[in-house]
Amino acid sequence: MDKNKLFETVESKADLLTALSDRIWEYAELSMMEHKSTAAYLQILRDEGFDVTENLCGIETAFSGAFGSGRPYIGILGEYDALSGLSQEPGITEQRPLIEGGCGQGCGHNLLGVASLGAAIAVKQAIEAGELSGTVIFYGCPGEEGCAGKTFMARDGMFRDLDAALCWHPGDVNEISTGSNAASIQVEYIFTGIAAHAAGNPQHGRSALDAAELMNVGVQFLREHMDPKCSVHYSFADAGGLSPNVVQPTAKLIYMVRGENVRKAKALLKRVDNIARGAALMTETEMTTRQIDGTSSTISNEVLEQLLYDNLCAVPLPTYTQRELTYAATLKTTYHTEGLPGNRTAENRQVRSFVAEKSDNGNAAVNDFIIPYVPSNYFNPGSSDVGDVSWLTPTAQFTAVTWPSGCPGHSWQIVSAGRTSFAHKGMLYAAKVLAASVSDLMTKPELLEKARAEFRISAAEGYDCPISKDLLPTIG
Ligand SMILES: [Zn+2]
Ligand SMILES: [Zn+2]
Repeated sequence: MDKNKLFETVESKADLLTALSDRIWEYAELSMMEHKSTAAYLQILRDEGFDVTENLCGIETAFSGAFGSGRPYIGILGEYDALSGLSQEPGITEQRPLIEGGCGQGCGHNLLGVASLGAAIAVKQAIEAGELSGTVIFYGCPGEEGCAGKTFMARDGMFRDLDAALCWHPGDVNEISTGSNAASIQVEYIFTGIAAHAAGNPQHGRSALDAAELMNVGVQFLREHMDPKCSVHYSFADAGGLSPNVVQPTAKLIYMVRGENVRKAKALLKRVDNIARGAALMTETEMTTRQIDGTSSTISNEVLEQLLYDNLCAVPLPTYTQRELTYAATLKTTYHTEGLPGNRTAENRQVRSFVAEKSDNGNAAVNDFIIPYVPSNYFNPGSSDVGDVSWLTPTAQFTAVTWPSGCPGHSWQIVSAGRTSFAHKGMLYAAKVLAASVSDLMTKPELLEKARAEFRISAAEGYDCPISKDLLPTIG
């Protein structure tokens, strides 16, 4: 298979893909509410001749588009959900919401899903032309930000049949995402007390707010005694009413616990549950708990990572106009950044000196180079629902440059950059890397077998789903 043909297909679809990305950017729909985005994807998948399945796992905004026949089955993952409060005018270098309080694509998922689709279309055309054989499946995965949609899909049987899955994420570096992510579990604790006049008859009241505060204090003391790779985060979802002269009868906390793997996250959650029970006991209130979502740790696959890296290097990197470079440099002045770019850069001396030179010691606005790939045990304390896919089939991911160096995650700057020609170039680059990698997996069975052999060892423990059997995804 001449990979240039795949790249030509992506280029020939550049207008379609760019327009779709911009539409998804405009829709900026929150987790599990991505109805317009889903309709836009379904339309294109059907127009392109994919075999479409809607309502995957009973989720209205989850879908797939398959093309081809027989093995290998190669999945490409796409996301499209947005974040609240990040509405922003595109392509400008100051914070200015389009809609006050509106949503925005603050994680670049408009680009993420569309590059994955672009790769699927390129592979589809090669299958049609008889140049590749196998089945390519694009997965529309909703609710990455709000409720870990892929975990629900993984629990309900998706991804298991795949021979491999590939994914990417927009970013500020061209880099293989090696190492692992933390597992996470999100839970709410609801305390119910008895309202009373806080001065008139406080002895009759039982304060849910007190219980919530005591729980938080208890967890602060727990923090010293946790595994170093664990973390606990919380928010107050309900602190009772606004009147201080009422004993607050309701309170709700949302907790997220993270651990090196699901087993450790579940063990930590038990300790947090005990603290919640203790707080209820101390305050004579009732406590109920409800899980919201969860994600698994990520298992890396070095065979697939090397493959993605080879294709990061094989696809010509985008070149930028002076206007695009000036935009990136000006946007970079709106946030603080320090250190060298790349999550895994600091770990390896050779990589560090390479990146230092290429990025002008981290001062360059655009990281227009590829960070050398070195397999590593790097532990990312954040979490991703791609982790759940990685326990079911060999999975690998990379990041490609779609915003300036050091740009903070989930920021207005990312929303601004996400609808520019600068970002579109990175998106098309990512589509080509994915398409070329799928092509290799379809033409080199020995490579796929090596990836699967590695997976059989690394995933030998088996998938321990972090969410309960009947949990439904949270909407919004
Ligand atoms: Zn995000
Ligand atoms: Zn994201």
